Amino acid sequence: MAEQAGLRGALTPRHAAVALKEVIRLAPEVIEERFGLTPGEGAAHLFFGAITPGLFGGGFLYTNRDTLSLGLVLGIESFLESKPPLETHRIFEAFKERQEIAHLIKGGELAEYSAHLIPEGGNSPLPQPYGDGIVVVGDAAGLALNMGITVRGMEFAIASGYLAAQTVKKAKEKGDFSASTLALYQTLLKESFVLKDMKTFRHSLEALENPRMTGFYPQWACKVLEQLFWIGEGPKERISSTLWKGARQGLLNFQVLKDLLMLRRI
Ligand SMILES: Cc1cc2nc3c(=O)[nH]c(=O)nc-3n(C[C@H](O)[C@H](O)[C@H](O)COP(=O)(O)OP(=O)(O)OC[C@H]3O[C@@H](n4cnc5c(N)ncnc54)[C@H](O)[C@@H]3O)c2cc1C
Repeated sequence: MAEQAGLRGALTPRHAAVALKEVIRLAPEVIEERFGLTPGEGAAHLFFGAITPGLFGGGFLYTNRDTLSLGLVLGIESFLESKPPLETHRIFEAFKERQEIAHLIKGGELAEYSAHLIPEGGNSPLPQPYGDGIVVVGDAAGLALNMGITVRGMEFAIASGYLAAQTVKKAKEKGDFSASTLALYQTLLKESFVLKDMKTFRHSLEALENPRMTGFYPQWACKVLEQLFWIGEGPKERISSTLWKGARQGLLNFQVLKDLLMLRRI
């Protein structure tokens, strides 16, 4: 509708990710035991690195009362460009078979499967989310943010829906639903955390789509951790020496400096 109303162009692959999610039913006691929880507690696990073979994205596993939500988010541009082309459902199946995941979902019954687009990056909210007789909220207005550590969209959808309702209430009182009255919606959005956060994190996509974030850095961290924990045949060197050697091997270069400068912007 936003497209047809001339408020946005077509969604581009760079500005959308596809999310695959399975809801897996398990008895509450099994979930509590596997995740080390007491009744009423929950757990949220996030994954990135080898699970999205070099692609922009990550995985999540949340506990619910009697189900688990297991999912994968993949940047569409990233897998369209992959050679040979990677199929999303195969990446998801491989994710489920990993040893970190397989034992947690073992014996579970698939209750729900879904695939959904997520607008990516705070750099694509609609410049004007209203027109004559229309206000656009939530995902449809591009109000979603991948901050690397979390995907945010729910609270933006709720808050923008609330602000849109306030605007429509005013418009109803005036009996005028023209763009000039509905412009209040954008003013309210700007004053709220919604557009403030979109602005603060507007560079998140540029920083996160860097393939080194899901490739080189996780691999580097795993390699250095392995060296730290490794006890070989000979004498073991100091922890500080291992760390320094690791840093010299991978981190002390111009590329890392560039990545750090980019990360400072999110
Ligand atoms: C797998 C996954 C994980 C996520 N994780 C998080 C998270 O951890 N935290 C977070 O904050 N956000 C998360 N999000 C994002 C969050 O779910 C969305 O940002 C939020 O649901 C957007 O709300 P919305 O109301 O704008 O859109 P939606 O929730 O998509 O609602 C739109 C509704 O409109 C209906 N609809 C569509 N077209 C029509 C039509 N023509 N006529 C009538 N009805 C129609 C749809 O069926 C749907 O019910 C996640 C999203 C996905 C897919």
